[in-house]
Amino acid sequence: MAQMELNEQNIAEVVRQVLSGMQAQEQKAAVLSDSYDSVSYHGRRFLGVYPTMEEAIDHARSAYQVIREMTVEQREKIIAVIRKLTYDEAEIMAAIGVEETGMGRADHKLLKHRLVAEKTPGTEDLISEAETGDGGLTLTEMAPFGIIGSITPSTNPSETAICNCIGMLAAGNAVVFNPHPHAIKTTNYAVDLVNRASLAAGGPADIACTVVKPTMDTAKVMTGHPLVRMLVCTGGPGVVKAMLSSGKKAIGAGAGNPPVIVDDTADIPKAAKDIIDGCTFDNNLPCIAEKEVFAFESIEEELVYHMTKNGAYLMSPEETERLLEGGLGEKKDEKTGKTSLTINKKWVGKDARLILREIGVEAEADVRCAVCETDADHPFVQTELMMPILPVVKVEDIDEAIRLAVKAEHGNRHTAHMHSKNIDRLSRFARAVETTIFVKNAPSYAGIGFGGEGHCTFTIAGPTGEGLTSARSFTRRRRCVMSDAFRII
Ligand code: NAD
Repeated sequence: MAQMELNEQNIAEVVRQVLSGMQAQEQKAAVLSDSYDSVSYHGRRFLGVYPTMEEAIDHARSAYQVIREMTVEQREKIIAVIRKLTYDEAEIMAAIGVEETGMGRADHKLLKHRLVAEKTPGTEDLISEAETGDGGLTLTEMAPFGIIGSITPSTNPSETAICNCIGMLAAGNAVVFNPHPHAIKTTNYAVDLVNRASLAAGGPADIACTVVKPTMDTAKVMTGHPLVRMLVCTGGPGVVKAMLSSGKKAIGAGAGNPPVIVDDTADIPKAAKDIIDGCTFDNNLPCIAEKEVFAFESIEEELVYHMTKNGAYLMSPEETERLLEGGLGEKKDEKTGKTSLTINKKWVGKDARLILREIGVEAEADVRCAVCETDADHPFVQTELMMPILPVVKVEDIDEAIRLAVKAEHGNRHTAHMHSKNIDRLSRFARAVETTIFVKNAPSYAGIGFGGEGHCTFTIAGPTGEGLTSARSFTRRRRCVMSDAFRII
């Protein structure tokens, strides 16, 4: 090991690391002591959390009035502190996120928060346009909406809230949240963090507001309130539909069921590792994560073999059957008499070993994914499980692979993946599946900037077309015309 020279600077760095390690340990212990709720963390009262949605909106309005008078540089200063606090407190949010929702992995949630801190665009995302000609100068600028109402999911609660806040504030808005009822404490922690950052940077409190107990009723107040000019909704199909029927400008970021195609030109060991890495990230909670694989018959066995070398447990057909019985149920619609599949919520985002244990399989300590070989119509293929369970379907050729993968994606146009070195096939699948995100030869998370180029977001708006949202998504275009002047040539 290289000998480190001791000087003032690196002693300070060592001390900082030791202290932050101790602090992290203390924070971890603190979290486990369960002394946080939807309005406070260790006695520190959350900023921006109000008893009613009306009060939350009223306070957001006051903050918006201050934001309107701020310079872009001042907004950017607040965003810089939000980034810092998000980075520094990522471990706390990761821990309480897992504890409150009972889903996901703290080590991966930590990375997700750091990704938000580092790669969510700020004010640089706003670009003004100028057109000049004989008629003079016309300027188009990206203006704020005012107060945005945001509905956030349980799967990435604080990540989504902070990512939304950075983009919305960069664009000059204030925001009110109606968080998922299973992730109130975690989301409210994030709201408080954003307000602490604002105060620390000389901004107003309440740039983000929320309620003590969000419900469908508080969501209704939020969507119907005249001061809420835009709605942003990150969640499953039900809530996206509800928001899009609100009569207001809405951004809908809905469900996905991302298929993966692996053909016979792919680097199979790498494809297997990438797929398992992506599929098991935060126990498969991200909407972009690999949900089912269509593999060429000629390489399928090799692919599954390499998956097992990377933390996958290959289930027998009997075990797969048992897992199906435990993982999915049936629900009958009283009105229509039709039956549909329901997901066992207790298994969503859980460790693969825990799920396997439920069906009597005691997997090795390094197992992080349960893989099964099924046909394309299997419910594990067709349903968005959000569990580290991965069905692999054999296909004859690229035509069959694309046909089945497009069907399994259900027209969500969300995310798809492919491992191949054949450019024609890659292009064919990308064109056919029409997803917002298409990742080639990498784990799914490369699609949101983790190990891939491009910015990060946790609100991927397929249904309404904004794509990977950022500050500019939360703006309205405004035009200013100067007739016959300001053209300098
Ligand atoms: P969910 O749909 O259960 O809940 C989302 C939010 O909507 C919650 O706050 C919930 O209380 C609220 N809600 C539900 N119905 C509503 C209605 N009619 N009116 C008002 N509010 C309503 O989502 P979840 O289980 O937390 O998240 C998982 C789902 O979200 C998956 O389908 C996943 O693919 C999707 N998701 C999509 C993205 C994306 O960027 N596209 C990101 C994360 C999650």
